[in-house]
Amino acid sequence: MNTEENLDCIFCKIVSGEIPTEFIGENEHAVAFKDLYPQAPVHILVVPKSHSENISKMIIKSELEGVFDLIRTVTSEFTDGQFKLQFNSGSREGQTVFHTHAHVLSQQSK
Ligand code: AMP
Ligand code: ZN
Repeated sequence: MNTEENLDCIFCKIVSGEIPTEFIGENEHAVAFKDLYPQAPVHILVVPKSHSENISKMIIKSELEGVFDLIRTVTSEFTDGQFKLQFNSGSREGQTVFHTHAHVLSQQSK
């Protein structure tokens, strides 16, 4: 299930500009910004513009494609080509913000 915006969601507020955040990448379907509490020298979040709870709830192929296109862009612009990609899904598995997001983690910036 995807909805345009969830008013209580911190990442929806970042997407809409209500919480000012510098985007280091953007396309039609997703934005990318630095994680506030980086866990690696490069730690970027790639976030779909439409609200969904986690990656398993994303069903619109064009939106999935937009997220993965932006992941490809930021990994090529901000890492040396070696990185980890993580979608925490569900509180038991470490998800704390319930708006789909990919963590892009790398030990080496470009
Ligand atoms: P997760 O634990 O997988 O749900 O990841 C949520 C991530 O969002 C954490 O790594 C937080 O550090 C990050 N985060 C929370 N609020 C912000 C914010 N305002 N700007 C950037 N990153 C944030
Ligand atoms: Zn949201």
